[in-house]
Amino acid sequence: MNFADSEVVNSILMDEGMSPSETPEQADVIFVNTCSIRENAETRVWNRLKEFRALKKEKEGLTVGVLGCMAERIKERIIDQEQLVDIVVGPDAYRDIPNLLAEVEDGRKAVNVLLSLEETYADISPVRTSGNGVTAFVSIMRGCDNMCAFCVVPFTRGRERSRPMESILREIRQLRDQGYKEITLLGQNVNSYKYENIDFTRLMDEASSVDPEIRFRFSSPHPKDFPQPLLHLIAERPNLCSYIHIPAQSGNSEVLERMRRPYTREEYLGLIHQMKQIIPGVSLSTDIITGFCDETEEEHRDTMTLMEQVEFDLAYMFAYSERERTLAHRKYEDNVPEDVKKRRLTEIIQQQMSIQEKNNKKEIGRRHLVLVEGTSKRSDEQLSGRTDTNKMVVFDREHYQKGEYVEVEITGCTSATLMARPIRKSSIAEFNKAQEEAVVLG
Ligand code: SAH
Ligand code: SF4
Repeated sequence: MNFADSEVVNSILMDEGMSPSETPEQADVIFVNTCSIRENAETRVWNRLKEFRALKKEKEGLTVGVLGCMAERIKERIIDQEQLVDIVVGPDAYRDIPNLLAEVEDGRKAVNVLLSLEETYADISPVRTSGNGVTAFVSIMRGCDNMCAFCVVPFTRGRERSRPMESILREIRQLRDQGYKEITLLGQNVNSYKYENIDFTRLMDEASSVDPEIRFRFSSPHPKDFPQPLLHLIAERPNLCSYIHIPAQSGNSEVLERMRRPYTREEYLGLIHQMKQIIPGVSLSTDIITGFCDETEEEHRDTMTLMEQVEFDLAYMFAYSERERTLAHRKYEDNVPEDVKKRRLTEIIQQQMSIQEKNNKKEIGRRHLVLVEGTSKRSDEQLSGRTDTNKMVVFDREHYQKGEYVEVEITGCTSATLMARPIRKSSIAEFNKAQEEAVVLG
C-alpha cells in the first residue's frame, strides 16, 4: 500500500518539475512514507526522522515531510515538540503537496491530514521509480470500514471507497505498454470492491482480460465474504495466479470474535477446503497475530493447529501491538505479557518454517513457469523470479533475461526459496497448454 502511495506522490512531485535524487544528501526535499500498523513500524520512522534531522542541520533549506498513516496521529508532536519535520500530509491529501511546499517556502510549517470520502487518485498515473520494471502494484480502493478490534487502518486511512474500474483498467493498459508482466491489485479488503454495479470478481475478470500474458494477483481478501465465483474464475483463467493471501489472524473462534473478525475457525477452514478443491494446487498464505488480549495457551494452540492443518506456503506473523483509538485499546486490556507474546510468536514461526520446508520439498522434480524479476541477491550468475504460486525460485542465468517467462524444473529448496534448472523460454499460453496435455495423457 505504501509503495503504491509513494508512486502517486512521485507522480505529483514530478508534475511539479521535480525529479528523484539518488541519495538523501543530494535531495532538496525528503518525504518519509509512514505506517502505523504496529509500534515497531512507527519506531523505525522516528529513527529515520532523527537521521534526517542531522542532515537538516548540515544543509540549510532542506525540507523534510511525513506522508501517510502516522500523519494524523502525531501531527502536533512531529511539528511542535520535535522540530523534525516541515510538512505533514495524510493519505488523502497528497494532491495538496505542491501548496504545502509553497507554504514551507514562505517560512511556515504545513499540515493537511484531512481524510476524504471520495479520493482515490483515480486520474493520477503512479510513477514507478524504484521497482524492477516487471511487477507492479495497482491500488483499487482506499480505506477500510471493517473495524477489526486490533487495527488502526480505519482511523488512519479513513472510510472505504473504490476506484472506478475504467481508471484501474487504464493503468493496467499503461503498465502493459511499459512491459510489466505481473500486476497485484491492492486494497484493505478487496472482496468489498464495488464501483457502480461492478464487483471484485467482475473487476478481476476484466483486468485479467487486458492481456493473457500478464499475471494477476490480489491482496488482501477477507475470509468473511470471499466470493465463490472468483475461485472458479481463478481455476479457469491461466493468468489469474493460483495463489491466495487469506489472513486468518487466529485459529480460535473466541479470539476471532474478540478481534471482531466475523467468521469462526470452522468457517475459515471450510473456505480453505473450497479453495483447495476448486483450484487444484492452490498456494495459500496468511497473516497471524499472537498474544491478542486475553489469549490463553489453549487459544494459542488452536492457531498452531489451524496453521498445521492448512499448511500455508507463507505466513506473515506478528506479536499483538496495541494501537490507540482501536476498539481493543478502548475496551480490552493488553494483558498477555511481552515475553509470552514473543514465545508464542517464535513457536508459530518455527512451525511455519518446517511446514514451508516440507511443502517446498514436495516441489522437487516439478515444473513451474517462473517470471524472471532480476538478478538473484546471492549471485550475479543467477536469476530470481516467482512461480505462479508465488514461490521464489533461483536458477542459472544462461541466456535468460529479466521479464521473461521461463519453464524450470525444481531441483532443491530451503524453507524460503526453490532452486531450479531452466528448461526453456516459454509463455503463459504455451506452458498452460503443455500442462493440460500432460493431464490428458495422465
Ligand atoms: N486489510 C488486511 C490487513 C492489513 S494490516 C486484512 O484485513 O487482511 C496487515 C496485517 O497486520 C494484518 O493482517 C494483521 O495481521 C497485522 N496487524 C494489524 N494490526 C495489528 C496490531 N495492532 N498488532 C499486530 N499486528 C497487527
Ligand atoms: Fe484492518 Fe481489518 Fe480493515 Fe484489514 S480488514 S485493514 S485488519 S480493519
